Amino acid sequence: MTLLADPPIASPVRLESTRTAFDAYGRRMSYLRISLTDRCNFRCVYCMPAVGMQFQPRDELLTDEELLRAVGLSAKIGFTKLRLTGGEPTIRPHLVDLVREMKAFPGIEEISMTTNALLLSRIAQDLKDAGLDRINVSFDTLDPVRFKLMTRGGRLDLVWAGLEAADAVGLTPIKINSVVVRGHNDQEVCDLAALTLERDWQMRFLEIMPMEGVGMVYDEGLVTSAETQARLEERFGPLEPIETPPGDPARVWRIRDAKGTIGFISPISAPFCEHCNRVRLTADGKLRLCLLRSDEVGLRDLMRAGATDEELERQLLRGIWRKPWGHGIAEGDRNIGRGMSQIGG
Ligand code: SAM
Repeated sequence: MTLLADPPIASPVRLESTRTAFDAYGRRMSYLRISLTDRCNFRCVYCMPAVGMQFQPRDELLTDEELLRAVGLSAKIGFTKLRLTGGEPTIRPHLVDLVREMKAFPGIEEISMTTNALLLSRIAQDLKDAGLDRINVSFDTLDPVRFKLMTRGGRLDLVWAGLEAADAVGLTPIKINSVVVRGHNDQEVCDLAALTLERDWQMRFLEIMPMEGVGMVYDEGLVTSAETQARLEERFGPLEPIETPPGDPARVWRIRDAKGTIGFISPISAPFCEHCNRVRLTADGKLRLCLLRSDEVGLRDLMRAGATDEELERQLLRGIWRKPWGHGIAEGDRNIGRGMSQIGG
């Protein structure tokens, strides 16, 4: 396990003189992950508890207008990249229109989406036409029975059709997220990785995080990236490293002669907070400064109290300034407060 690096002593930027989103450690925030809904059509074992999941009343979620206002202001203070997530983003009404309007804000260069792909085959072309650039698909197993168990009811054939549709319309490069959980899919990582031999996809193996409601699955199920990598190398031989930009949370490799690549995302064994460039907007309108810390800025309440754009911009800049340096999961700190689907993974 690698512990988080120490923060820099002082930032080269001053809050009073910047109109661009920086935190107090000098990290520039340019990537906004937006949860379009806290609801989902799956109940993945590592994401939601089997029973007792509570969803927020609809009037507590951001309306389309509020959401677009928040995105427009974020673009103004330097956000260039958006990711739509949830919950399941494809069940948000008016998704295609939202993508089109978000893409039209000056400064927004890229919009991507993380989805379980169950409904994707029907809307992939419309999303592409509206300006969606690419997708990440959560996909944890190639076995239809295990798929049903891990998602608590999901259909692998429909998800696969969604993936193929995304590929066909050019929502690429496609990345596949697989949370490796001991006793569920850890024996299957080599078969998942083998998808990259013939397809130009990035197969990413994620360490499970101890989000609210899945603490026990984490305690029993964590498989470190090192263990997954060792398993892959036993089957495929040494993986070849590929250089990635500092903001990419994945360490990327390739199986010899494969068309696609393998990514490891290791928030537990090798936190990448030092290079974090992202904040999250929850479906209920909170700017979440760190996935794994509970500090948030209540944007929806400010908007509903009549805040002007200038006031909102100031609150955004101030909130981002106090972004925590990093999480303390490896040190045993689990004060997260929400589940992944409530924050926007
Ligand atoms: N419904 C969409 C999907 O399935 O991709 C988007 C939301 S889902 C919460 C976003 C991502 O969070 C998925 O890639 C999922 O694998 C990941 N995720 C959920 N719970 C997690 C956990 N406890 N630890 C690590 N990753 C998790």
